[in-house]
Amino acid sequence: MGAVHRGVLLIVNDAKRGYTVQKTDAEWKAQLDPMQFEVARHAATERPFSGKYWDHWNEGQYHCIGCGTPLFKSDTKFDAGCGWPSYFEPVNSEVIERIVDKSHGMVRVEVRCNNCGSHLGHVFEDGPQPTGERFCINSAAIDFAPK
Ligand SMILES: [Zn+2]
Repeated sequence: MGAVHRGVLLIVNDAKRGYTVQKTDAEWKAQLDPMQFEVARHAATERPFSGKYWDHWNEGQYHCIGCGTPLFKSDTKFDAGCGWPSYFEPVNSEVIERIVDKSHGMVRVEVRCNNCGSHLGHVFEDGPQPTGERFCINSAAIDFAPK
């Protein structure tokens, strides 16, 4: 079941599809700290202005905390004023999975790592050019690698 949105196929509802990287909860807990585990594996949201990357501007790449896949580059990061790291595009469209999220009485588009299914954040349509998109990402879901 899917819907096409801005030319991208969205998976409606959590399909629990088979990601390339599969781990048990115990394995994820051993790998991640408690905050990373809650955000990446249970779609929790860190408090704004609390994560380590909302005001981080070094040159490099941001990788998935779950599997290490490069997701965002520092030159696509911008200050959205929201207290979470924000990017106008991922390194390419294949690394991100978009899922319609109807929780909390809103309809939003959740973004996950397409390789391991870790929750990253949401994407909104109020971003800057050239894409007009704002990927609002939890610091706890990503890991920075300097250039
Ligand atoms: Zn991942």
